[in-house]
Amino acid sequence: MAKKFHQPTRMCVSCRIKSAQNELVRLRCVDGGLQPFGGWGRSFYICKDCLLDEKKAIKSLMRQCKNGDRENLSNKLKEIIADDR
Ligand SMILES: [Zn+2]
Repeated sequence: MAKKFHQPTRMCVSCRIKSAQNELVRLRCVDGGLQPFGGWGRSFYICKDCLLDEKKAIKSLMRQCKNGDRENLSNKLKEIIADDR
């Protein structure tokens, strides 16, 4: 029988599907601004599938950050994803 490895799962804020932590990007909002998670503060996860669907991702980010500035969030998100590679 295959051994079950314990994988921590986190829920994507956009599609609400639980995935392994390494399938998700961890972000946080500071004063309504999107930032990569830096070890403190409230964080949330978004899955890589949702990141491909930017419109959907931004909608969730607007809700998470209580920030209605779609363009600002979109630019920040691109920056963070680019840094992540
Ligand atoms: Zn998702």
